[in-house]
Amino acid sequence: MSSNVKMVEAPEGYEGSGFFATSLEKVVGLARSHSLWPLPFATSCCGIEFMATMGSHYDFARFGSERPSFSPRQADLLMVMGTIAKKMAPVVKQVYLQMAEPRWVIAMGACASSGGIFDTYSVLQGIDRIIPVDVYIPGCPPRPEQVIDGLIQIREMAQNETLRRRNSAEYEKLLASYNIQ
Ligand code: SF4
Repeated sequence: MSSNVKMVEAPEGYEGSGFFATSLEKVVGLARSHSLWPLPFATSCCGIEFMATMGSHYDFARFGSERPSFSPRQADLLMVMGTIAKKMAPVVKQVYLQMAEPRWVIAMGACASSGGIFDTYSVLQGIDRIIPVDVYIPGCPPRPEQVIDGLIQIREMAQNETLRRRNSAEYEKLLASYNIQ
């Protein structure tokens, strides 16, 4: 087994003898992107695929995300996986509202992204009908490699997000479109 541990790359900055200077925004982005705590909201088969992703073979821990949080207040990445019935939609929204900013959302699999094969009166046709989604992972179910790819995309967003984004008029408008203040 390889013990080749790679150090995180330093953000852009100025380096000299005995000092390194960068912006606060870059340091915060680096810290956030390497410590995303997922809240797995799993209702069906995609949740099983997520369990495989959390196992030692795929090793989510490499990304600092090995600690699944079942408390929304200690999570910053909501991962919705599985069919969401319309009756359950208020619960998903409530969980999202209980998460502190900054928060990110992944819709994992066809059901969470679009209702999947369940084009029926009782199934929500995608969680973006009730909350904003940052990354959609296609598949039925997606492979663990796809889940990891989705996480990597969220990490890039977290790393490059400006500290002011969550206070911007554009973000407020996005939340307002979901009736969230
Ligand atoms: S996308 Fe497919 S695998 Fe995932 S919950 Fe829906 S039916 Fe199950």
